Amino acid sequence: MKKADIEDGLIKAIGPADIIQRQFSEETFEEKIDCSGKCILPGLVDAHTHPVWAGERVHEFAMKLAGASYMDIHQAGGGINFTVECTRQASEDELFDSFQQRLQCMMRAGTTLVECKSGYGLNLQTELKMLRVIARAQRELEVSISATYCGAHSVPRGKTATEAAEDIVKHHLPTLKALGSSGEVHVDNIDVFCEKGVFDLDSTRRILQGGKDIGLQINFHGDELHPMKAAELGAELSAQAISHLEEVSDEGIAALATAKCAAVLLPTTAYMLRYGGEMGQPMVMHLACVNMKMSMPEALAAATINAAYALGKSHMHGSLEVGKQGDFVIINSSRWEHLIYQFGGHHELIDCVIAKGKVIYKK
Ligand SMILES: [Zn+2]
Repeated sequence: MKKADIEDGLIKAIGPADIIQRQFSEETFEEKIDCSGKCILPGLVDAHTHPVWAGERVHEFAMKLAGASYMDIHQAGGGINFTVECTRQASEDELFDSFQQRLQCMMRAGTTLVECKSGYGLNLQTELKMLRVIARAQRELEVSISATYCGAHSVPRGKTATEAAEDIVKHHLPTLKALGSSGEVHVDNIDVFCEKGVFDLDSTRRILQGGKDIGLQINFHGDELHPMKAAELGAELSAQAISHLEEVSDEGIAALATAKCAAVLLPTTAYMLRYGGEMGQPMVMHLACVNMKMSMPEALAAATINAAYALGKSHMHGSLEVGKQGDFVIINSSRWEHLIYQFGGHHELIDCVIAKGKVIYKK
């Protein structure tokens, strides 16, 4: 095998070291990493993040701890509207710098493929700004990114849900399609926050169908706070994935299974999720085991191959197989379970993170 053949970042062989060494001549190895006594796991896949934003809201956490309700915070000028306002005002460079830092935190915690949503602009101009920031990260960073247009994350002030849906279908989506063709943005998925008082089932259907018509995968927030029959809608539209589903019905679960639509469960609350990058997926897996009664192998599958499936990327990501992308995590323990078991200990455990065959983090 020639050196050029191993530079595509894909996994070439898996097996005992002596057999692999016989298969490849010494000069094909650019770097050898001794993993004696260690574990190699697939790179982690984070199937739901909102990592592009401006506007610090740590004071709201203090307010919540002191007993403030969602509405108190909203009336004090906080909540999503605050983030939207700050994100609209931020420059593209400012957004990129903070986004890049969040991505680096995720990478150090073992994430090699991450879904990233827009959705703090709500107007076309800012949604596009966020998507350009995501496109820049796709070009410049080693982590793989699945980009999601989430312009229907909330109903913008001054519009009804029906008017917002109309604006998205008539103006946002055709622009995305045109900019996708010219390469300015690269969007994989379409998302809507389908919820009582936000986007009802009809508006959700209209937006998702519009996204599907321009070639996007459907991957949306549903059945989170109220039962909305979002799972049934997702199955009807052949959605790739639906997130949350705390209030899904039994019929909805059956419909998801028949349609092979992935359920993306979020063991952290929506609030904590915005800090998920800093928290790190190993901690989220731990919470999945404790709070959602998953076994450790189930949590690992959920954070690797199944999350990759939710993004339509399980053919290249999510497991260690010949021909898949060379994304993996080396941990300093002979038992992989420690990555989940040692809550908050992943910084110490993770020795090395490799994406597309290149070391992107080394302790
Ligand atoms: Zn979300």
